[in-house]
Amino acid sequence: MIPMVNLKAQYVEIKDEIERGLAETIENCSFILGPNVQAFEKEAADYLGVKHAIAVASGTDALHLALIAEGIGAGDEVITTAFTFIATAEAIKYVGAIPVFVDIDPKTFNISPEAIEKAITPKTKAVMPVHLFGQPADMAAIKRLCDRHDLKLIEDCCQSFGASIDGKQTGAIGHAAGFSFFPSKNLGAFGDGGLVVTNSDETAAKLKMLHNHGSEVRYYHDVIGYNSRLDEMQAVILRAKLKRIDQYNKGRRHAGHLYSELMADLPLTTPFEDGLGEHVYHQYTLLCDRRDEVMKALQDKQIGCAVYYPVPLHRQNVFKEEYAGVSLPVTEFVAANCLSLPICPSLEDDTIREIVAVIRGVLTS
Ligand SMILES: *Cc1c(COP(=O)(O)O)cnc(C)c1O
Repeated sequence: MIPMVNLKAQYVEIKDEIERGLAETIENCSFILGPNVQAFEKEAADYLGVKHAIAVASGTDALHLALIAEGIGAGDEVITTAFTFIATAEAIKYVGAIPVFVDIDPKTFNISPEAIEKAITPKTKAVMPVHLFGQPADMAAIKRLCDRHDLKLIEDCCQSFGASIDGKQTGAIGHAAGFSFFPSKNLGAFGDGGLVVTNSDETAAKLKMLHNHGSEVRYYHDVIGYNSRLDEMQAVILRAKLKRIDQYNKGRRHAGHLYSELMADLPLTTPFEDGLGEHVYHQYTLLCDRRDEVMKALQDKQIGCAVYYPVPLHRQNVFKEEYAGVSLPVTEFVAANCLSLPICPSLEDDTIREIVAVIRGVLTS
């Protein structure tokens, strides 16, 4: 059996460090907002090259709190992509704003800057690009149009920890950004977790209050906040993995490039790197018009594979009435033809060859 991600292999490498840290935390009984959370926030901010990092309970919360802190609220339009995980749009809905879905680039699957520009109205307040599958969106173009139209730029970095563009990390370009540490993400905890980053002192001060019951001084509350803190145990795990994130992402890139090299002659489209930034291959996602046949063959051999994402957000039950008039041809085409293969830093070259052999068997028969 070949799983989509092999979390066990990664754990074995850092087992001692993690167990020591967890044992210490249990001894200290400092479970919430303890020293490891503080240290992790500092280390993550340094790594990402941002002034402030606030650890929260999930990536969804990170995006939600970032939107509140940036003043996005009822009736505001937020332009985003429909080819993403639902949480991107949920966060926009939580603040009473309206997700405006625009189409993606057919090669990178990331939001199209031209499509954003066309969707801007007097009600537009923010743009939320997703660095999908670990490839940075075209941030130079997106930032330019946000600056020109005075829009907040809030990055969904839930799949892009460590990806960079124009010498900057994803998350360090917009007004604020949200990261996820869901276990299967390329920087994953052993449970839920997230991070909001910003270079603005004002936004950071709001976020610190918002994620901890609207309070700066314990038992004094200035705004209605949330209970959204990363717990100390998760911070221990994330500190150990953050030290190794470049090595992990390098392993992912190696696996991604080997897949593409081995499948170059097959009738499918391997992931396109636009060369603007560095893709960290959170997912390895190809396009193939015989996707369902390929999937079936992989499943028969107990090889993991998945469709990220089968139903674009504007066609989900929760949104389909509201967006009945919206047509996003590229998004719809990609959702109907995409397939993600197993990828993680420990994936061996021979395993990749084995997976490709199965795909080759289907497409050359
Ligand atoms: C995972 C993910 C989220 C949500 O993160 P959680 O930590 O699971 O709440 C948001 N957006 C994208 C693009 C994601 O992949």
